[in-house]
Amino acid sequence: MPSISPLLSIENLNTSFHTDDAVIRAVRGVNLQIHQGKTLAIVGESGCGKSVTALSILRLITMPPGHHDSGQIKFNKVNLLDLSENEMQKIRGNDISMIFQEPMTSLNPIFTVGDQISEAIIQHQKITSKEARNQTIDLLKKVSIPSPEIRIDQYPHELSGGMKQRIMIAMAIACSPSLLIADEPTTALDTTIQAQILNLLSTISKETEMAILLITHNLGIVAQFADRVAVMYAGKIVEEATVENIFTNPMHPYTRGLLNSIPKDDNDGSKLEPIKGSAPHSGNLPQGCAFHPRCDENMPRCQKQPQMINLTNNTEHQIACWLYDDSVEEH
Ligand code: SF4
Repeated sequence: MPSISPLLSIENLNTSFHTDDAVIRAVRGVNLQIHQGKTLAIVGESGCGKSVTALSILRLITMPPGHHDSGQIKFNKVNLLDLSENEMQKIRGNDISMIFQEPMTSLNPIFTVGDQISEAIIQHQKITSKEARNQTIDLLKKVSIPSPEIRIDQYPHELSGGMKQRIMIAMAIACSPSLLIADEPTTALDTTIQAQILNLLSTISKETEMAILLITHNLGIVAQFADRVAVMYAGKIVEEATVENIFTNPMHPYTRGLLNSIPKDDNDGSKLEPIKGSAPHSGNLPQGCAFHPRCDENMPRCQKQPQMINLTNNTEHQIACWLYDDSVEEH
């Protein structure tokens, strides 16, 4: 790992939702770091806490019922959880921006895409509308929109799904953020367009040193695009490693299960093996390792919560699983 300070450092984040029926512990003691110019992917099944982690970073959790129970989210060494709403508004879109899964819910159907991108620019920069229009055309070129001088005056419904997602990326990078959070940015797209969009994000990241937090339920798409992968289950990070280690040497039974359920490109005839059972509800988690009801290697000590340990003598490969931790007496 680089020795320079991380751009984003999440320390022991706990985010919950208090309803009449239950306390839903969506994020439980998450620690993560992202360095400038790097891509960290958080992967896991729906409802595992990935998106709540992302929304917590931008302070977009509705409170109540949401609540940050403890932890810090340090961006450039400033704890975002300590900032006022006014201070956060200056950071959102400017220093940290986010693209969402479904562009149609984020793009306004009654304004042209050009007006929507220009508005994002004018909000954060003191420039004229003509300068903003020129910058918008440059952004459309950057995200490979053909005929940008024509597209700029079109409405979202006149564009394809892939093109709308490119518009979302143009809006997100309009103010050159140092961190982009991409929450399932390609789920609604076919695989060819998925690869184009992820390649585009990767190119922008290399050119501008922008860090990316990529959130996805699909471990298959991160291999080419992420530097590190954090695997999340029931609100906890259960394994974190370089992308090479996750793919060549997955250690956690859940990570191995996710990998076994990805269709292989070379289709060697081996059958896909989906993970048995389903993820638990965050309001009713099993005791100890939350994966134990689905784990073939479950053993008595799995009734206690395993702690994150380093498998190497640095933080290169970390895991929370009793198979690799013989310190049961101490926990
Ligand atoms: Fe399986 Fe136990 Fe490891 Fe959990 S701690 S993943 S139940 S072996």
